[in-house]
Amino acid sequence: MNLSSGQTYLAIPGPSVIPEAVLRAMHRASPNIYEGELVELTHTLVPDLRYVAQTEGNVALYIANGHGAWEAALANMACHGDRVLVASTGWFAHGWAKMARAMGIEADIVEYGTQSTIDLNALAKALHAHPIDYYKAVLVTHVDTSTSVKNDIAAVRALLDDLGSHALLAVDCVASLGCDEFKMDAWGADVMVAACQKGLMVPAGMAFVYFNDKAAQRQKQLPYISSYWEWGQRANPEILAHYFCGTAPTHHLYGLRVALDMIRAEGIENIWTRHATLAKAIWAAVESWGTDGPMRMNIQDKSLRSTAVTALHMGIPHAKNLRNWTQHTAGLTLGIGLGMSTPEDPKGDGFFRFGHMGHVNAQMILGMLSTVQAGLIANNIPHGTGAIDAAAHVIAGA
Ligand SMILES: *Cc1c(COP(=O)(O)O)cnc(C)c1O
Repeated sequence: MNLSSGQTYLAIPGPSVIPEAVLRAMHRASPNIYEGELVELTHTLVPDLRYVAQTEGNVALYIANGHGAWEAALANMACHGDRVLVASTGWFAHGWAKMARAMGIEADIVEYGTQSTIDLNALAKALHAHPIDYYKAVLVTHVDTSTSVKNDIAAVRALLDDLGSHALLAVDCVASLGCDEFKMDAWGADVMVAACQKGLMVPAGMAFVYFNDKAAQRQKQLPYISSYWEWGQRANPEILAHYFCGTAPTHHLYGLRVALDMIRAEGIENIWTRHATLAKAIWAAVESWGTDGPMRMNIQDKSLRSTAVTALHMGIPHAKNLRNWTQHTAGLTLGIGLGMSTPEDPKGDGFFRFGHMGHVNAQMILGMLSTVQAGLIANNIPHGTGAIDAAAHVIAGA
C-alpha cells in the first residue's frame, strides 16, 4: 500500500528541511535593491552570521553553493602554482582538492580513508617534509558529510602552531555550521566556508566565506585575484551591490533573516544540544538494529561522529531497498551513500545516510526511525529489536 501522501521529510544531508517561516518570508514581490528595507536588512545579517560561527572576524557573502564557497576561499588564499595541503576524511575533502587543482593550485592530500578522523602524526609528517611556508593553507573538513566523521579543528590549529607552520587553517563547515559545535575564533580557524542550505535552513543559493585578519593580510600579498571571488569588498561593502559583486540574492536575504532570527531565539548552544540529543536517539536505534542484522554505523567512535548526518552501512541490496521503500511507500527520503565505493560494491549502494540537520525536532526523528523500522520489516532485512524503544528512552531522558 502507498502511504506517502502527506508532509514528506527529506532526511538527506542537505538541502535540509526549510521552515515555513523562511519560505513565507521569501514569498514576496521583488524589493528595491538601491534603498530601503532590503538594504537595511542585509546589514543586519552579518553580526548574526558571526554569532552562528562564534567569531568576530570578517564574512563575505556569495550567490553560490558550497562548491562556490570552496572556490571563493581558494581564490583568496592561493594563486596558480601555490600549494595547499588537504587532510582528507572523505569525499568532500577530495572535492575541495580537485577544485584547487583546476585552479592550478597544487593540492597534496593526506588520506585517512572513509572511517577515520585526522591522524595528527601523519599530518605533522606531511608538514614537516617541507619549509614552514611551503603550503599556503591546510584544508580540513569539519564534518565530512559522506563519512559523517567530525574532525577536531582545535587540535589541527595546535599542530600548526607547534610546527610554526605559516599555512592558513581553512575549514569546511558546510555540513556542520548551525548544527555541531563550532567556535571559529576559539578553535583558531583562519578561514571557514559554509552554505545556507544545511544548518542555516534556507534554500540553496547563498554561501559564506569567513576569514580573520591574518587571512585578510595574506590575501593582499597574492599577485592577482579573481575580482568576482575577491572577499575584501564583499566583507566591507559601501553599497548593497558590493556584498555580491552585482545583484543581491534578494529573496534569499529575506529567508536568511528569518532563519537567523530563529537561530538567535533558540540560542546556538541550545541548537548544538538539540542536534546532539537527537543524534543520540538515532545512534541508540542503530545500535539495537545492529545487534541482530547487517546495519552498522560508519564511524564507531561516538566522539568522532557528526550530530547532523549519520553514515550507515547495511550491504547490497538492503540499503537501496530500504531507501526505495521509505521514499515511495512512506514519504521519507533517506540519503544515498556518497564516495563509499568498495571493490565488492563499486557504486557504494550498501551505504546510506540519515540527514538530521537544521530544522528537525524529536517527533521528526522518532518518525524517521519508526519509518525505517517499518522499512526493515517490509524488506525482510534482518535487524535487532527494541530500536524505537531505545530512541524513545533517549528523548524521554533528555
Ligand atoms: C554539502 C557539502 C558541500 C557542498 O555543498 P554544495 O552546496 O552541494 O556545493 C561541501 N562540503 C561539505 C562538508 C558539505 O556537506
